[in-house]
Amino acid sequence: MTPVRVLSVASEIYPIIKTGGLADVAGALPLALAAEGIEVRSLVPGYPAVMDALTDAQELFEWPLFFGGATRLVEGSCGELKLFVLDAPHLFARPGNPYLSPDGKDWPDNGLRFAALARMADNIGLGAVASFVPDIVHAHDWQAALAPAYLHYSGRPRPGTVVTVHNLAFQGRFPYSMLEQIGLPPDSFTMHGVEYYGDIGYLKAGLQFADRITTVSPTYAREIQSDEGGMGLGGLLRARSGDISGILNGIDTGVWDPATDTHLASRYDVGNLASRAANKLALQQRFGLEPRADAFLLGVISRLSWQKGLDLLLQALPALLGRDIQLAVLGSGDADLQEGYRGAAEVHAGKVGAVIGYDEALAHLIQGGSDALIVPSRFEPCGLTQLCALRYGAVPIVSRVGGLEDTVVDAEASDATTGFKFAPVTTDGLATAVLRAHAAFGDKDAWRIIQTNGMSTDVSWHSRASRYADLYRELVTTRAG
Ligand code: ADP
Repeated sequence: MTPVRVLSVASEIYPIIKTGGLADVAGALPLALAAEGIEVRSLVPGYPAVMDALTDAQELFEWPLFFGGATRLVEGSCGELKLFVLDAPHLFARPGNPYLSPDGKDWPDNGLRFAALARMADNIGLGAVASFVPDIVHAHDWQAALAPAYLHYSGRPRPGTVVTVHNLAFQGRFPYSMLEQIGLPPDSFTMHGVEYYGDIGYLKAGLQFADRITTVSPTYAREIQSDEGGMGLGGLLRARSGDISGILNGIDTGVWDPATDTHLASRYDVGNLASRAANKLALQQRFGLEPRADAFLLGVISRLSWQKGLDLLLQALPALLGRDIQLAVLGSGDADLQEGYRGAAEVHAGKVGAVIGYDEALAHLIQGGSDALIVPSRFEPCGLTQLCALRYGAVPIVSRVGGLEDTVVDAEASDATTGFKFAPVTTDGLATAVLRAHAAFGDKDAWRIIQTNGMSTDVSWHSRASRYADLYRELVTTRAG
């Protein structure tokens, strides 16, 4: 059987450039798919970090970009990842966050930057690289989502197309005046084309034209088909219901392995959980918390945004800090939340600590040292931090939404429980769940069982990658038939 060839298109990819879970998926899924006999190449923008990470770089061709600027397609690798890189310095030679200028605002030309990425995916999809003609173009999120639209409007025999929604809140909406500039035909600007409430909708276009739509958990797949969860796209998604599937994300269990993790003060596995104590102490020291083994230490690793519900945790603090509870928060994002957590750390010194920023190593220590990890999201497509937490024996306390609902088990009996869930997503709901977890923490044997259950849960890519492989094969077969 010839392997199915997939061009994965994403605007970030771990370990090179990451702002969130999208990068983790774009970096881990190709490797997991290799074990399924699927051959994946990833098309990514040529940010400075990508150009620096590239080994064996080779120019494939120059590309007279339809809206100007010297552009070329480069092939190379980074570790085991095989990459196509869109090297367009006028669009991508900007260090730092891939979407934001140094003043924290979206780059004004984001519409052009990611139209170029999708257009290159279209070129490769139509055979521009003779050595790799994909059977499937798989576009991740709005930044890649114009690719199925370009392929549709090319009018040529095309590969199958898949769009994955990692977060429906980010939709890529740009003015109609750009239509011609980005090379879309005038007749594409209709409700059944790329038009979206009077603008061009990049994600909308992808959802309209992709042969298959996936999102990153079964519950989120249902939620996005509702009016509220659909965020303006619910009607379209309901109309495409038969083509939508929810496939949970996994984590890279090589990167996230408490038995080998060099970011920890002490490594451990399910057989010697007592060794976590040294990590808890290291974490307390790092966050300026009282070094007390029996305090209930809560961790947070998150973007600080409305989605993540971390304003609720700030509001819940008075109800929690009367108990023997500590909190270590690592995050960055909205200025008011950053200030809120800085302030809480000052007011409750010794009980609350905050590190504002992005720190991969510290994220590992929080997983390895906290007793519980809090994820109180208002919506959560899949969520990765609770998966890492399960693997590290940090018991997740999560809201009942999206992938959090699907990956954490809150059962009556502790022999099935892996964490604590709450709904509705309110301050009281969160506080009650934390207090339930705190009570359970008081029974060391029961707590150990909950930790052990979590650590025995399969959070790897293995079974998830096979779902993608099945989807690709089904699509190739259907299109051939
Ligand atoms: P999202 O993609 O919505 O931000 P996910 O839970 O899917 O949320 O993925 C977040 C990823 O980013 C996880 O790998 C998490 O560990 C990491 N992360 C988030 N914030 C930080 C931070 N401040 N420092 C280090 N890692 C972080």
